[in-house]
Amino acid sequence: MLKLYNTLTKKIEEFTPLNPPKVGMYTCGQTVYDYTHVGHLRTYIGEDILRRVLVSNGYDVKHVQNVTDVGHLTSDADEGDDKLDKRAKERGQTVWEVARFFEKYHFDSLEQVNVLKPSVICRATEHINEQIKLIEQLFKKGYTYQSEQAIYFDTSKLADYGKLTGQKLEEKKVGVRDEVVVDPDKKHPADFALWFFTVGHFKDHTMRWSSPWGEGFPGWHIECSAMSMEYLGNTLDIHAGGIDHIPVHHTNEIAQSEAATGQQFSRYWVHFGWLLIDGEKMSKSKKNFYTIDEISDKGFDPLALRYLFMTAHYRDMQNFTWESLEAAQNALNKIREEIRAWESPKIGCAEFQQRFLEAANNDLNMPQAVAVLHELIRSDYPTSSKARSILEMDKILGLKLDEYLGKPLEIPEEVRKLVEQRKKARLDKDFKKSDELRKEIKALGFEVEDTPDGPKVKTLN
Ligand code: AMP
Ligand code: ZN
Repeated sequence: MLKLYNTLTKKIEEFTPLNPPKVGMYTCGQTVYDYTHVGHLRTYIGEDILRRVLVSNGYDVKHVQNVTDVGHLTSDADEGDDKLDKRAKERGQTVWEVARFFEKYHFDSLEQVNVLKPSVICRATEHINEQIKLIEQLFKKGYTYQSEQAIYFDTSKLADYGKLTGQKLEEKKVGVRDEVVVDPDKKHPADFALWFFTVGHFKDHTMRWSSPWGEGFPGWHIECSAMSMEYLGNTLDIHAGGIDHIPVHHTNEIAQSEAATGQQFSRYWVHFGWLLIDGEKMSKSKKNFYTIDEISDKGFDPLALRYLFMTAHYRDMQNFTWESLEAAQNALNKIREEIRAWESPKIGCAEFQQRFLEAANNDLNMPQAVAVLHELIRSDYPTSSKARSILEMDKILGLKLDEYLGKPLEIPEEVRKLVEQRKKARLDKDFKKSDELRKEIKALGFEVEDTPDGPKVKTLN
């Protein structure tokens, strides 16, 4: 039985979908004006593990993810900047080219860390009508008011606004960071724009559409409500994202969706802790980030990052260091090396598989699940049994262990020859030559380890 911490109730709850075995899950996607970094990947890998755990429990998951490709102010933007317009100028491209470039970068990054492709990928710019319809519903029900600059959601009209954080509206004095442009006609700092008009601050905004209220572009939050309900119905089973989204983005999504439909928007809210660097949130605006390509360029396998993320609990913060990534890479290499010698899978070890799933089902306790994986590897079960179990576990781990299981390392003839030459050089005590040969071997992607039984060859990753 799967248990999840639900931010809405602040409790670990048994997970039960509305229409089993179907599960509708929505994950907030990328704002595509900059590179997806490994901080983002922590959340996306966490969501991927959640999806895989749901599937392992027999659920049929429909996973929807949006692409925030409307240029506007998001919570990660500096004051008053439309990053998409700004980036387009910097790069000498159109806003559309910038959006498509970073969208591709995003999904390529996800593929590198073996995150399953969402069942539906929806772009905000391709769902403007759905967003307008939702705003119309809110307008008709009296939840909106209009200023010269924008149409706002009136948070004072909703009795339980802010229930996700438990904050009372009157406590929410500080203006939301995504609407930093001062509008004297905005009634309350927590009120948020559903639609911006291309006037004043936004008069040069490139992306614009006509609407019943005038030309403009949608606010950030409305796209997630409109698209999630379009593809998953009025009530989602799970809505997920990083913890930064709790007080504003997700709070506002709940407000506008429930105001429009009168139904519960999402039954479970799952939030992922940040990846930190030097104790601070890794973020686009602070520019303190690494991309997955930078990780690979330093010789790491992207899947080592995935492994690293599974060594911390998803709700805790995790500090990124190169040392911890190196330790993850070594641990992964060891697993790969070990399973290369295993026999073909036969009947699995039920006890280990059960304990592994129990850990994953216990609010996605992946550090515990990884510990069970290592116990299985060390156990005395026949390798054919361990092989079956490790493949089962990898359906959740997503470490592509099948690429290594029972596949002894193939050492190219060229490398074999160099290893022999190096062995001879060492016997002749010509250590200079042996070092040079080691470098040549390394350049071909292999490493020699001198053991009491003679040299052992491994791949670098
Ligand atoms: P954004 O494009 O900034 O809205 O971020 C996309 C997703 O990544 C959201 O769910 C964020 O909460 C999440 N995210 C952003 N930065 C981090 C971080 N440093 N660690 C974990 N998740 C993050
Ligand atoms: Zn969202």
